[in-house]
Amino acid sequence: VPSLEVSGLAYAYPDGTQALFGVDLVIGRGERVALLGPNGAGKTTLVMHLNGILTAGHGSVRVAGLDVRADTMKEIRRRVGLVFQDPDDQLFMPTVREDVAFGPANLGMRGAELDRRVRDALDRVGMLDAIDRPPHHLSFGQRRRVAVATVLAMEPEILVLDEPSSNLDPAARRELAEILRNLDVTVLMVTHDLPYALELCERSLILSGGVIAADGATRALLADA
Ligand code: ADP
Ligand code: ADP
Repeated sequence: VPSLEVSGLAYAYPDGTQALFGVDLVIGRGERVALLGPNGAGKTTLVMHLNGILTAGHGSVRVAGLDVRADTMKEIRRRVGLVFQDPDDQLFMPTVREDVAFGPANLGMRGAELDRRVRDALDRVGMLDAIDRPPHHLSFGQRRRVAVATVLAMEPEILVLDEPSSNLDPAARRELAEILRNLDVTVLMVTHDLPYALELCERSLILSGGVIAADGATRALLADA
């Protein structure tokens, strides 16, 4: 079963703006895919359909075979891990530990099992040393890594990142690339950073005017662009 299957997805906002015109895509388990495209192409609208912030006007979205619709929302939200562009939209607790524990605790996890989840997620992003620190004492790059950990702690089927390299200095950029490369999870990253896409994603999708205009090897797509 693929991690993500979108078919015939069309969507118009309430004011009538048609943002998606029939998007089809399949992302297999373990793939790392970049979602590229100009401003206004529909990237944000597509991402908002992946975890049900918006639901399909026409067409369908399946995550690990599960249809994204009102009665599956709880299951979908744990399977689709969204990492926002601004980590400060995701971190709001007094300590890193509490931020990373928040999601799994919400699922009912407690005690040693919860502690293992939190440590494992922080370890995967190289932030275990910061477990007892307040997030606002960390650098921006470190906060972004903790934001990734809050999502990994849910053990998602697919990790969706919005502009993961934005506002990072070169060192933080390299560190995050290394982390993302080594995660054994399906990744979809929305980005304008073509070198980052090239470095991290074998495959890219180009969304343009609400349709997938190209889908293939990043190297080949960027050579054409
Ligand atoms: P991208 O993320 O690729 O920049 P968006 O998904 O944000 O593209 O936007 C796709 C289209 O939908 C654009 O024409 C945009 O102006 C429009 N749009 C986005 N959000 C809304 C909204 N809340 N109401 C009306 N139109 C919107
Ligand atoms: P991104 O930088 O992620 O592509 P955008 O700049 O396209 O995001 O949009 C930022 C916010 O503005 C989003 O919440 C989007 O829904 C909203 N938005 C974009 N276009 C419109 C529009 N035409 N009408 C209303 N809201 C819009």
